[in-house]
Amino acid sequence: MTQTEFSSLPLTPAELNNLKELGYQTMTPIQAKSLPVILQGKDLLAQAKTGSGKTAAFGIALLHSLTIAHYETEALVLCPTRELAEQVSNELRRLARAIPNTKVTTLCGGKPMGPQLASLEHNPHIVVGTPGRVLKHLDKGSLTLRRLKTLVLDEADRMLDMGFSDDIRKVIQCTPNQRQTLLFSATYPKEIKAISQSVQNNPVDIYVETKH
Ligand code: ADP
Ligand code: MG
Repeated sequence: MTQTEFSSLPLTPAELNNLKELGYQTMTPIQAKSLPVILQGKDLLAQAKTGSGKTAAFGIALLHSLTIAHYETEALVLCPTRELAEQVSNELRRLARAIPNTKVTTLCGGKPMGPQLASLEHNPHIVVGTPGRVLKHLDKGSLTLRRLKTLVLDEADRMLDMGFSDDIRKVIQCTPNQRQTLLFSATYPKEIKAISQSVQNNPVDIYVETKH
């Protein structure tokens, strides 16, 4: 039996208490299967439908592993659209209430560069963004991923459908080889298998059929 209690995870009392305050009583199936794997630092290839709780599945683990005292970008979440990136940032900020001083920055195309450049001056712990705009900041030198620990490809099938494959690969070239890479996708076409094989290291494979 997979454990569904958040208290079965190696989280701090503050983190568990914050989940309670958010009204998260038990883990959703994708969370129960993926959180133990992610917290162990392994790569993950997860297939799960929309609404299954994927953001907290990676978010809880990312936040737990941050070194808050270091103002360095330790986690990057790539999303297909601005709306999704903003949703992920909002959820990460709610999850981060348990961890004071955590900084999350959103970098999306179609938004002015000025505020993004300003927010990157004090390296945020977590960057969430769309591949094109993240690459633009890497090219300008306003973002560095040299200290990145974890890369998340969220809704990876949609990113590939939208033609972001080359941008994703260029972003990955700016990250350390020994990073953790988490890939979430609603479907599992051969392109996903191919990108997983080229950017992940022996990932644990997880499939969740239903929503909850
Ligand atoms: P997905 O990315 O899989 O589409 P989300 O991460 O956006 O799903 O989560 C969908 C909704 O479920 C969000 O409103 C989120 O706050 C809520 N949620 C996530 N995990 C839990 C949980 N363990 N208990 C209750 N609600 C949850
Ligand atoms: Mg999502």
